[in-house]
Amino acid sequence: MKQYDNQANRIRKEVLVRVARAFFSEELRAIDRIPIDMRPRSGESSRCCVYKDREVLKYRAMAALGFGVEDETDELTSLHEYYEKAQQRTCVKDIGLTVIDIACHACQKSRYVITDTCRGCLGRACQTNCPKDAIEIVNGRAVIDSGKCVDCGLCMKACPYNAVVRSPVPCEEICPVNAVSKDETGREIIDQEKCISCGQCTRACPFAAIQERSQMIDVLGRLKEDRPVVAMLAPSVIGQFPGNLEQIITALRRLGFDAVEEVATGADETARREAAEWKERIESGDAFMTTSCCPAYVEAVRKHIPEIGKFVSHTPSPMAISAGFVRETSPDAVTVFIGPCMAKRVEALQSSDVDYVLTFEELGAMLIAAGIDVQECEAAVIDEPAEAAGRGFAVSGGVTGAIQTQFADQENNLQPVGFDGLDKKALLQLKMAATRGCGGNFVEVMCCEGGCMSGPGVLSNPKTAARQLNALLKDS
Ligand code: SF4
Ligand code: SF4
Repeated sequence: MKQYDNQANRIRKEVLVRVARAFFSEELRAIDRIPIDMRPRSGESSRCCVYKDREVLKYRAMAALGFGVEDETDELTSLHEYYEKAQQRTCVKDIGLTVIDIACHACQKSRYVITDTCRGCLGRACQTNCPKDAIEIVNGRAVIDSGKCVDCGLCMKACPYNAVVRSPVPCEEICPVNAVSKDETGREIIDQEKCISCGQCTRACPFAAIQERSQMIDVLGRLKEDRPVVAMLAPSVIGQFPGNLEQIITALRRLGFDAVEEVATGADETARREAAEWKERIESGDAFMTTSCCPAYVEAVRKHIPEIGKFVSHTPSPMAISAGFVRETSPDAVTVFIGPCMAKRVEALQSSDVDYVLTFEELGAMLIAAGIDVQECEAAVIDEPAEAAGRGFAVSGGVTGAIQTQFADQENNLQPVGFDGLDKKALLQLKMAATRGCGGNFVEVMCCEGGCMSGPGVLSNPKTAARQLNALLKDS
């Protein structure tokens, strides 16, 4: 369901680049021109007309400036006025996703549809297998009566011609916690009480109607000030930019960061502490312990499966540990976590050590706007490189691998189990694990299938990025 490269995502990225360019050019009015420049009157429109496209682009630019549709009190407020407000912001408080209502297509309710591949065959397995008698044959073709259909999908499984397809509402379908639903107009809304900020819906919507509020302008503003600004690079940075880790570090310094830290170093410490915690808990009689480094999972536990809360590790995440290291040596520094994850914004909001969170997509836009080509940067020297185990946190199974490394020379009873991706089924299994156990005593949970390399803020195809990470791990 996730779409790493499509036209809607490209448009969202282009808006980020244009907003960052406006920042560097210091031409405030340039920001007002973004919708017009992207959809000139003579150009093609993606909707009914260029004027609607421009209106949607205005809301995209607002999101790139950190504002949601909900923040609009007067439609006449111009983008440069939002830009000025963004520059006056000293901290970020509102991190909820925003639905650009006029961009939402109000897709029809998820349903099964019979396509014209239907041959009206003699077997009619769709009809005979339907438990609700919802299929009729009209003019030689099968038709589903939506009033009777209970969405079981048995007709789709039964048809030998694959004539039945599921037509989903992509954002609703992907949300693991049913936080996305329709309002009275058919457009989607997000229930913030249920949302775990995993960000999956932002990439699932083919109209890119769901957007995150960016912190890019805030970080660009801090980079111009005197306070030191430290970038904390998530392990999943490998493969996100053309160039190696050492070149990415130089690119960040050119952008204005005073120092760049590998969060994989914090991950090494997380692994040490988590291994010790696991040993202590199991020895004192706990059935199992789950990881705690994925903030979307932690939010899911808090909001949806509190019964498993007592099994979740108390060890801080690699981001929290890395930010603590930075604060020890540089108490006044502004700390910026850069990774693939939108849920990290929730974790950062609860931490006094992390000031801002950027996605790789936002960093990519900043580099393009600043004219910095990672491949042309010289390689920086990493004084204290992270261990392979910490760098491996970027993929599913990486935390487990790091814990196993901790016990490599010791007798242990580690029985790992992994939840690679948090969907509705996995949530149910975790809920049941609280009373029935889960077949292991160390449970790694990653909300994104494949791990953070597949997070919603990545730039690269996760499989390609994972191959590059594996090559680096062999050398670490
Ligand atoms: S961010 Fe995740 S939990 Fe929140 S609405 Fe989107 S898919 Fe659902
Ligand atoms: S798996 Fe990684 S990127 Fe995805 S929500 Fe969890 S921490 Fe964030």
